[in-house]
Amino acid sequence: MYDQNNIFAKILRGDIPCQKVYEDTHVLAFHDLHPKAAAHILVIPKGAYCSLDDFSANATPEEIGTFFATVGQIARALNLHKEGYRILANHGTFAGQEVPHFHVHILGGNALGPLICPHVST
Ligand code: 5GP
Repeated sequence: MYDQNNIFAKILRGDIPCQKVYEDTHVLAFHDLHPKAAAHILVIPKGAYCSLDDFSANATPEEIGTFFATVGQIARALNLHKEGYRILANHGTFAGQEVPHFHVHILGGNALGPLICPHVST
């Protein structure tokens, strides 16, 4: 199920470079290649999880807790907590998930506007 050749798996293996922000035994964080805000960081677990759906179902409570604590620590270390920031995780087709390795986007550094586009009914 997990694609070992997805882009973030390649970044974790060191096959392709990234602009690293933070790394520990379980987590890697790096700048998004196509930033959607002044600060746009991707935080990924080192374990092979396809998305939040997989991570929340199969990671241990300790892994999950540590991961989200680390997301908060990274935002704080980047000083994003003072003016505010948004975290976002896409799962699956409707959300437009591009890379099938679980990741959280941290967006900040400027006013972010509305959360999502309004639903357009046909
Ligand atoms: P998703 O839509 O899956 O939630 O977000 C994937 C994100 O990964 C996108 O914001 C995209 O810009 C970013 N991205 C795609 N390929 C690369 C890459 O090779 N390096 C980095 N740093 N980010 C990437």
